[in-house]
Amino acid sequence: MVKCMRTWLLIFFAFTILVLSSLAQQAPATQNQAKPEDTEVWKPVPEVVTPGATCGAAPSDAIILFDGKNLDQWVSAQDKSPAQWIVSDGVLTVNKKAGNIETKRSFKDYQLHLEWKVPENITGSGQLRGNSGLFLASTGPGDAGYELQILDSYNNQTYVNGMAASIYKQAIPLVNANRKPGEWQTYDVAWTAPVFNADGSMKTPAYVTVFFNGVLVQNHFELKGETRYIGQPFYKKYDGAPIKLQAHGDPSEPISFRNIWVRELK
Ligand code: MG
Repeated sequence: MVKCMRTWLLIFFAFTILVLSSLAQQAPATQNQAKPEDTEVWKPVPEVVTPGATCGAAPSDAIILFDGKNLDQWVSAQDKSPAQWIVSDGVLTVNKKAGNIETKRSFKDYQLHLEWKVPENITGSGQLRGNSGLFLASTGPGDAGYELQILDSYNNQTYVNGMAASIYKQAIPLVNANRKPGEWQTYDVAWTAPVFNADGSMKTPAYVTVFFNGVLVQNHFELKGETRYIGQPFYKKYDGAPIKLQAHGDPSEPISFRNIWVRELK
């Protein structure tokens, strides 16, 4: 009986040593692997500011990108086929199955106005609550480009460089001017596109200024490059790019847009 127990104890110890040594071998590889969390910033949390009433009617020289009627100015960002999001009652709603959409036109420097609304009955939390995005320049399919985050950040905690009005993973908004879900929100953006040298290196960086519900949240921020979900941003040469809207894969209810216009800056 004692001999039998000894044998079992020996087998147990041998097995434990085997497991521990295999874990020790895996550890360095796991440590070297970049993770999305590496580039999340959680503090300090921007102060809450209650926005006043806003107006956003298009001026005479604006290019109307969405006026409530149709998606004539937009295509699928994946294959340039007609955009398949839903237009109803003057409002554009994300069709998550159809993927991101982008403008047919390309832009360099511009002023842009856009309104967005998270459904009143929104569910989920963190990044999975009304996530979308305004890509200030779409440099390729998928989420390639420079993302101004759209998210329900009204009483919804997440990493602050990923909240609404952040330049995703680069710039925390100066304050939190988010309205409640169910209310329309406005973005007013001044975008200065990056300029590149012939060899592809960056000559001058991109800059962005953003008003969120009329409140200054990004003040001539110098971008470090394209948005990266994992790892650090860097510049990739492009010459004029569409403006893109994100169909994020989170399971929360799709958000809506209205009154989108842009003014090219010569
Ligand atoms: Mg997003």
